Amino acid sequence: MADQYKWCLHCERAYKKGEHRLIDGLKMCPYEGCNGDTVIDAWDWSKIKNDHPEYPEVPEVCKVYPMY
Ligand SMILES: [Zn+2]
Repeated sequence: MADQYKWCLHCERAYKKGEHRLIDGLKMCPYEGCNGDTVIDAWDWSKIKNDHPEYPEVPEVCKVYPMY
């Protein structure tokens, strides 16, 4: 479950793996206004969850999950 989600380093929100906005041929974070991409700025949700056991298995869309 958790491995089907990515977490954006820039906006600290999670999205389903594969979701993106295509901008100039680059796959960017699906959230409007975010300048993160889906390659180096996207971390596996399971990795974030590792550090935050209180975070849900399936993250809520649009919700900000701070790393610290
Ligand atoms: Zn983002």
